[in-house]
Amino acid sequence: MTKLLPTSTAGSLPKPCWLAEPEKLWSPWKLQGAALVEGKQDALRVTLSEQQRAGIDIVSDGEQTRQHFVTTFIEHLTGVDFEKRETVKIRDRYDASVPTVVGAVSRDKPVFVEDAKFLRAQTDSPIKWALPGPMTMIDTLYDAHYRSREKLAWEFATILNQEARELEAAGVDIIQFDEPAFNVFFDEVNDWGIATLERAIEGLKCETAVHICYGYGIKANTDWKKTLGSEWRQYERTFPKLQASNIDLVSLECQNSHVPMDLIELLRGKKVMVGAIDVASNTVETPEKVAETLRKALQFVDADKLYPCTNCGMAPLSRDVARGKLRALGAGAEIVRQELSVSLAAE
Ligand SMILES: [Zn+2]
Repeated sequence: MTKLLPTSTAGSLPKPCWLAEPEKLWSPWKLQGAALVEGKQDALRVTLSEQQRAGIDIVSDGEQTRQHFVTTFIEHLTGVDFEKRETVKIRDRYDASVPTVVGAVSRDKPVFVEDAKFLRAQTDSPIKWALPGPMTMIDTLYDAHYRSREKLAWEFATILNQEARELEAAGVDIIQFDEPAFNVFFDEVNDWGIATLERAIEGLKCETAVHICYGYGIKANTDWKKTLGSEWRQYERTFPKLQASNIDLVSLECQNSHVPMDLIELLRGKKVMVGAIDVASNTVETPEKVAETLRKALQFVDADKLYPCTNCGMAPLSRDVARGKLRALGAGAEIVRQELSVSLAAE
């Protein structure tokens, strides 16, 4: 990116009400068959145009073609039985009924590659595509086959690498891996989490990102956040290792969170996608509030490496609120861009 402070979102955006029930995770599709395929493509066109009108520079599909950021990818793999369900604790936080790994996992055909080609054909802007990270994938399943979190994570890393290479060939500029589990399982991050992530990006020439957040604004997450105290220092455990890794960008949560901003310093040298939009609140930030967060972040990240972003996905929000937040992000980044160009010109 040659533009200063290029804006983007963490990933998901609300779907139109004719495609799926709004303000809901895992919302069932309202269309079927060919109508569903066409509906997803139309929704993708709408979300793309809304991002562009709001001043979002690095655009995405808004995850319009998937029900959920982890399960939709897994649904396309063999070795996982979605009928056979077990209750497990996800991210050490809440019980969920999840599918079972019943045999060797593999990807027989591409999952998102056609969708990425479709998005690529709609725009010349840089595009970012999100995939779940290996650790977050294993944390959303019951494993009756490998019986080893690490072993299954390595298998998924290989599969993700196959998908990522094809997304790159389809013209994706940044491939992002969502790893909210990195904020919970610190020993595993250290032992094999970063290593499996690096396996997933092996051989890629496009840019790569990892997104680590405190989750969507759903009750299980907001309840968990209440237990974290006044300072959220989780990033302190993972950032030094990510700084030393081959990942190009790190996407993190800042706005309205209790993450001490100076933890960003631990990533110095990496590009940082700073969350300047709170996704757990319906209050639309003002551009000035976004600008304020970005100015603070600039103390810890070089201007040419600051990528204004949202804290997390906005799928559970209303479309109106999400549109307002996108516009605030675009306008807030523009305020700081102007300030930086004035100060550069004065030097
Ligand atoms: Zn997130």
